[in-house]
Amino acid sequence: MNNLATLLKAASFAAQKHRYQKRKGDDAEPYVNHPLEVANLLANVGKVDDYDILIAAVLHDTIEDTETTPEELTGLFGARVCGYVLEVTDDKSLPKQERKQKQIEHAPHLSAGAKQIKLGDKISNITDVTNNPPAGWSQERKIEYVEWGEKVIAGLRGANQKLEDYFDEVVRKARAKFE
Ligand code: NDP
Ligand code: ZN
Repeated sequence: MNNLATLLKAASFAAQKHRYQKRKGDDAEPYVNHPLEVANLLANVGKVDDYDILIAAVLHDTIEDTETTPEELTGLFGARVCGYVLEVTDDKSLPKQERKQKQIEHAPHLSAGAKQIKLGDKISNITDVTNNPPAGWSQERKIEYVEWGEKVIAGLRGANQKLEDYFDEVVRKARAKFE
């Protein structure tokens, strides 16, 4: 199967796996809008042209947020794609604060591909926290989220200058709105 066909297979797979999930914002967008946005940011802002990284971006929340298994991803998309997804998958058996601390600690040790997916993920989520925040979040909670995102990204700089510049711009806009 060629790269474009595999990317479309991943988009369709993610849409199916996330089909009953909504984003947490007031307008409750379909969840799959988020992984598609992350892959789009990588391709069109970050100029990433490695298909395995783009495919993994589309799939990045399937193991964490749906019943998808690593074996399933390896069988359908290969071990390299599955490896990237696992690198950006939180261990949900840990308490939330611990998971968040681990993201900060692990960021410098991620592969170059996983670092770029992490950048796209944080850009997408901070954009949502700014423009379409989860219902009931106080100003303080939004600011805490942005500050945590900055700490994660601080540990992986050097991975993709265009994405890092875009991340800085998104953080600047968030701060201008909240502070
Ligand atoms: P959550 O993990 O509960 O929610 C954020 C995650 O939800 C994102 O990382 C994203 O993950 C997903 N998501 C889905 N929809 C949206 C959306 N519209 N906008 C943004 N994210 C969305 O948040 P945290 O627990 O990290 O809370 C943020 C901060 O607030 C933390 O620093 C925490 O310590 C603090 N906090 C404050 C409280 C307070 O009352 N002041 C209470 C609890 C926490 P994905 O990419 O996987 O979809
Ligand atoms: Zn995500």
